[in-house]
Amino acid sequence: MGSILSGGRWLPVDQVLPVTNPYTGEVVGHAGRASADQAVEAARAAKAFRCALSAFERGEILRDTADRVADAAEDFVYSIVTETGTARRDAANEVRRAVAQLRFGAAEATRLGGETMTTDVTPNGPARLALTLPEPLGLVCAITPFNRPLNQVVTKVVPAVATGNSVIVKPSEKAPLTAVRFVRTLLAAGLPAEMIALVTGEAQEVGEALVSCEHVDMVTFTGSVAVGKHLARRIGLTHSAFELGDVGALVVADDADLDAAVAAAVTGAFGTAGQSCRGVKRVLVDERVADRFAAQLARAASRLTVGDPMAPETDIGTLIDEAAAVRVARRVDEAVAAGARLLVGGQRRGAQYWPTVLDHVPRDAALVCAETFGPCAPIVRVSGLRDAVDYLNSGPHGLQTGVFTQRIGDALWAAGQLVVGTVVINGGPQFEAPNIPFGGVKDSGRGREGVRYAMREMTRVKTVVL
Ligand code: NAD
Repeated sequence: MGSILSGGRWLPVDQVLPVTNPYTGEVVGHAGRASADQAVEAARAAKAFRCALSAFERGEILRDTADRVADAAEDFVYSIVTETGTARRDAANEVRRAVAQLRFGAAEATRLGGETMTTDVTPNGPARLALTLPEPLGLVCAITPFNRPLNQVVTKVVPAVATGNSVIVKPSEKAPLTAVRFVRTLLAAGLPAEMIALVTGEAQEVGEALVSCEHVDMVTFTGSVAVGKHLARRIGLTHSAFELGDVGALVVADDADLDAAVAAAVTGAFGTAGQSCRGVKRVLVDERVADRFAAQLARAASRLTVGDPMAPETDIGTLIDEAAAVRVARRVDEAVAAGARLLVGGQRRGAQYWPTVLDHVPRDAALVCAETFGPCAPIVRVSGLRDAVDYLNSGPHGLQTGVFTQRIGDALWAAGQLVVGTVVINGGPQFEAPNIPFGGVKDSGRGREGVRYAMREMTRVKTVVL
């Protein structure tokens, strides 16, 4: 029997969605399969709730939640590993990141403030005092993807709670159990149960009903470009933020510190088995250093351990399901057929795919033009930084790009030219910290996350003139 959180109570629902461990094939739990009507009713009830908590109290709840998640870290790791097949090392890292976001959000909740300004700025303008007050939007609908099933929910719930919004969470149907555990933890930490709803179910049924219902004041969506664009068309004027896919690039200039660039490529391309929106999905290497870089990267990839996601020594567990691994294999095979050279990897077993490095990948291969959500590091050779920037800017994505060069002028030039949300100099596109803005341009989305910036997205400015 599954349940959903609606109107402050866990309601049993008749239909369930089984959740399968992609490594063992075992069913590890069930989530409630809500109907569209049940989802809308949960939204109505959450919208009707008025948060009377002070900023201090909201901060304390987030701080207590952080402590509880940290204390139960092993349980969260187990949940993430069993429902997604992510290696436990990556899952443990995800839990640490979630705790950090909760702690940072606890502090930010008490810093929410506005501006004061005088209005005597025109020839006859009266000298009045204007204040801006941030107000919660009302009900935030958080739709999250399967990858990093704890952190994606935390990323949205923390700013919503910090700003005093109600929130309705719709996690991925592929990995909903960690979200349920997290919401239970928030309630144990004292969040009023009416302030949060959690609805699981079939995406099209529940997700579509939520984004188009009258009770939702903001949709914050993280997921694929295709679904994001579809929802953007549906929701009309409802306030929204979209964090979508990317073909995250690492650019390696001829003067780059190759050891550091290889290390960034390994963690960026193979961490969480390549299922990260800000992972390395292609490496653009200056042809003058490409032979050395490719050999080093292939050696490093061949040393990674693919195995039981629960084993401490495993670097790479499974992808979310076998179909995902088949899609990655197909992309790699197509690139090889088009002339790419496979240096290492390329094998698949069930939902597992081995860390794969390819060189001389044609620029128009789907492997490097579309997002490939798997452990692949395809190398595209470029003639220099300008060639790399032109190639990247010609595509539809723009989340984060890493650039390795020791020439500060080139670094700043590339940072200025690249049409992306974030440029990381001498680091991979996977860089993250809870206090900096995060988000894409072009097809990679709009709006910004990062606790403080998401809090801005989730508030509206009320102006008071004295
Ligand atoms: P997805 O787009 O298939 O699903 C994302 C969420 O949308 C899920 O909760 C799903 O149930 C829901 N959904 C699907 N169809 C819907 C519909 N018609 N109406 C309403 N909701 C619907 O994405 P996924 O496969 O779960 O996740 C992987 C994708 O997410 C990748 O493209 C990845 O790059 C992206 N992602 C982006 C970021 C970011 O911050 N930019 C972070 C993580 C993942």
